[in-house]
Amino acid sequence: MNIIFIAPPAAGKGTQSKLISNKYNIPHISTGDLLRNISDEKDKEYIKQQTQLGKLISDEFIVKLVYKALSDSSCDNGYILDGFPRDINQAIAYEDILKKLNKKLGYVFLLDISYDLIKQRVVGRLNCSKCGKIYNTFDSLSKPTIDNICDDCGSALVKRDDDNEKTFKKRYDTYLKETAPLISYYERKGVLHHIDASKSVEEIFESIDTILK
Ligand code: AMP
Repeated sequence: MNIIFIAPPAAGKGTQSKLISNKYNIPHISTGDLLRNISDEKDKEYIKQQTQLGKLISDEFIVKLVYKALSDSSCDNGYILDGFPRDINQAIAYEDILKKLNKKLGYVFLLDISYDLIKQRVVGRLNCSKCGKIYNTFDSLSKPTIDNICDDCGSALVKRDDDNEKTFKKRYDTYLKETAPLISYYERKGVLHHIDASKSVEEIFESIDTILK
């Protein structure tokens, strides 16, 4: 069960990836998280600069990171790759990775959602600093019970550096220019599943799960 997502920023791919990972016991590999956890100071500075500008990290850097992650034996029964491929070049590089690792493309999900709805999600989004659970202060169903504290593990909630309106607009423009062409790329291959991502977390998960089942 190998899964990739095409989705604008904050469409809910992180949340859905975690739900699929829990249900099917396959790893959730988020390129955004891998980048945020890099410790090398020089790389860290480069990543910070690019993400704050809403720009993509170089393909060379990302492809190496993804190849290493997917080579791990934990991915033998499948994985959810969240945030990659992000453009046509990466989609082509991904096919090469799959061939080298003797893996299949599997499922490609498109999370369909309007600009206005995701802008609201981004501005209200908070992440748990420890377990990664995602909250939204604008949504009564996904607000933390106590302000800024994770319901599940009690750790502090933090805001991502790039979750503000100005950077979001740039990230969305990058999505339209770089990532959206992947929709017709995978449509032509006949492997794309359209998911209405304007619905609730549970309803989106149900749509995805029906296809996986
Ligand atoms: P995300 O957590 O998926 O929203 O990613 C946060 C940021 O990390 C993006 O805005 C990009 O700057 C960078 N990033 C994540 N995945 C990729 C990728 N596949 N290619 C290039 N940059 C990426």
